[in-house]
Amino acid sequence: MNAPVPPDGMTRFLETSAAQMLDACTSCGACVEICPILPQAGLTDTPAEEVMSGILATLRTGDAIEGPAQAWAAQCDGCDRCVPACPEGINPRSMLLVANSLSARTRPATPELFRKMSRAIKMMAAMQMPPDDVARLMRHKASRDAPVVFYVGCNAVRTPHLLFNTMYVLDALQVDYEVSGGPASCCGIIHTKWEGKLGTAERVTDGSIDSFEDYKPEKVLSWCPSCQMHLGEDLSGFRETTYEFDHVTKYMLQRGAELQALMTNPVNMNVLVHAHEGMSDLGHNVVALLNRVPGLNIVDVAWEAGYTCSGANPDLPPGRKADTRAATMERARQPDIDALVTLYHGCHGQLTAACTREGIPTVNFTDLLVRALGGEPRQDALAAVRALGDFRAMAEAVMPNLKANRIDVDPDWLADLMPELLTSA
Ligand code: SF4
Ligand code: SF4
Repeated sequence: MNAPVPPDGMTRFLETSAAQMLDACTSCGACVEICPILPQAGLTDTPAEEVMSGILATLRTGDAIEGPAQAWAAQCDGCDRCVPACPEGINPRSMLLVANSLSARTRPATPELFRKMSRAIKMMAAMQMPPDDVARLMRHKASRDAPVVFYVGCNAVRTPHLLFNTMYVLDALQVDYEVSGGPASCCGIIHTKWEGKLGTAERVTDGSIDSFEDYKPEKVLSWCPSCQMHLGEDLSGFRETTYEFDHVTKYMLQRGAELQALMTNPVNMNVLVHAHEGMSDLGHNVVALLNRVPGLNIVDVAWEAGYTCSGANPDLPPGRKADTRAATMERARQPDIDALVTLYHGCHGQLTAACTREGIPTVNFTDLLVRALGGEPRQDALAAVRALGDFRAMAEAVMPNLKANRIDVDPDWLADLMPELLTSA
């Protein structure tokens, strides 16, 4: 008989986390009771202990999540309300990540998600940018030592204008940084939580952390809220690192006084700021940054469900998302609002599409910072492409950039793929 194959590092980490959570959890059910998704998950009348028992069973056995717990774990939108509710100091949001990841080994939720996403990211980057810009955002190997790494993750490369705006702000602050991003620099959340490929997840996460370490940075500043949650919260302790890991908006806010002194160009607008209750600190960072923009008046903040728009689960459950989105749109329609300010890449894509249909202007917070600094925000290269309306015309329009990036595709094939690419953006 063969000796059992030793579990890989990611499996060991998740199993150790599961054991610690099992040790600490008293099954009190407080995290379930406070959870806002129970109605949409059909769990309003299910005792909290019964929901919890399914999660604890998976943490104990590593088997797929069964029963009412399955609906709860699958529908969690990362809103964060359960975290302060746990009397034992457990992070129930991370607990569900661990349970989902162990469960996905035998019952993956989205088995091929990353492969499809990776293809879309590379294609969309090449459609929108010349090769130099693609290379700048999708760098994975250190070219030199750098005190700061701006970690853009993989998915945000599909909205490069927001990343270049952010880099404009870092340049204004004279930060000495390099960029790490693209599918090769994925944080690994999809492989872990949704695909259950824990060996691949370990290689992906390790590869990204290794690439940061190669720069010998003091700080790694992330953009993507999913990367922030996965590397900064769920996998805390997975690897010892030599740098501080935090969100780029926190860094900008720490240097808020310097930024304010540089922002001499008034941006006279009355805005509604979109934010998310999960990872609310990032939303508060953005509001505090925008409060330093001369001329800008934040009339209101629209807090939506979950921790970001789009992505693999933050738009779940659809009913709860729809309710908070309806409230945002209703507020944005009011005459005291000149524009809706978007937050991350996923939020920007969704809200811009929804608002354009109603003639409501949208602007990303990074656009406003660049304007206040006297610069010209990067254009959304896809906006002009989308405006063409016809998929074949869109395919023709992006062909020069694709060719420049040495991607040789048939325009008819690309026209057929265009709906999928644009929807995924
Ligand atoms: S983070 Fe998930 S489990 Fe926790 S309260 Fe929010 S939706 Fe519920
Ligand atoms: S609130 Fe904490 S202790 Fe209570 S069931 Fe949830 S995780 Fe366990």
